[in-house]
Amino acid sequence: MRHSILVVDDSGFNINVLEKELEEHYEVLSATDPMEALRIAFEKKPSLILLDVMMPKMSGYELCKVLKGSKKTANIPVVFLTSKGEVEDKVTGLQMGGDDYITKPYEVSELLARIRVHIRLKETQDQLKQLLEEKNRLIEQLENLSLHDGLTGVYNRRFLEEYLERSVEECKRYGLVLSVIMIDIDHFKDVNDTYGHQVGDAVLKKFAKRLGENIRSTDMLARYGGEEFTIVLRNTGVEGAVILAEKLRTAVQDKPFEVDGHSISLMISLGVAGMKPGGYMDAAQLLREADILLYRAKDAGRNRVEY
Ligand code: GH3
Ligand code: MG
Ligand code: MG
Repeated sequence: MRHSILVVDDSGFNINVLEKELEEHYEVLSATDPMEALRIAFEKKPSLILLDVMMPKMSGYELCKVLKGSKKTANIPVVFLTSKGEVEDKVTGLQMGGDDYITKPYEVSELLARIRVHIRLKETQDQLKQLLEEKNRLIEQLENLSLHDGLTGVYNRRFLEEYLERSVEECKRYGLVLSVIMIDIDHFKDVNDTYGHQVGDAVLKKFAKRLGENIRSTDMLARYGGEEFTIVLRNTGVEGAVILAEKLRTAVQDKPFEVDGHSISLMISLGVAGMKPGGYMDAAQLLREADILLYRAKDAGRNRVEY
């Protein structure tokens, strides 16, 4: 790729000279007016900007400050090229965000060498930025994978356990209530045996979606494993959780799941356990209690809620 350099100088003569010196190696863009320079910098994103200091409408320093202050152009290296060679001029230029300061008269070979260094630095910076973005994307993907169930997309058991532990602690500290619903599909093995495992998988996906549609955004739904799901309800006592459990039971029973032209009816059993204010249970005990109640629902004939 051929790099481009934007030359900003109010003198057309100076621009012509620089064009001749640079054009062998770079695509040269030019502007005699600061506003024109800004427009080109924004639109073309040159690899580097060579900037004159003394210009009538806006000094090179001011222009540099604007370029460095804008997200779009901040990382374009700015090299001042000027006859103002006092130390304080150079300091001002660098303070305005300039990357280098070359005084006239200059040696073309030195000018080219410095330009090469700044372009190389910028390339390295761009690569690092890209790598960092890629890394952040991967971390996000990994976090997502490690917290969600691959089949249904709802939270997984690992997340559930962490979430429940945190919630139970909060509940104890602030004297709040909290409930857990354990859900298990009745005779799900029959679905696999009748229609095959793949249809079973598709049913599980739709089942999780149906549960999700019937809970609040503050309720946390997770796949506990296999055809077992768990919902954690913060600020909800057992009475409220039982109402939701009943609502879920009917929402599942009332409408068959349509997969591959099959209409598959399901029923669920549910166990509901709750923490009262000042409750002594920890997260594991709460889950165990909900599980025991779920199995009581199975024993009592399935398609029911026990609490
Ligand atoms: P019960 O009413 O006692 O719960 O009967 P059940 O058949 O649902 O229970 P059981 O524990 O005997 O069987 C669970 C079934 O769920 C068997 C297993 O293959 C199926 N299952 C678990 N996870 C998956 C899955 O990811 N995909 C599919 N297709 N089936 C699954
Ligand atoms: Mg089951
Ligand atoms: Mg089961």
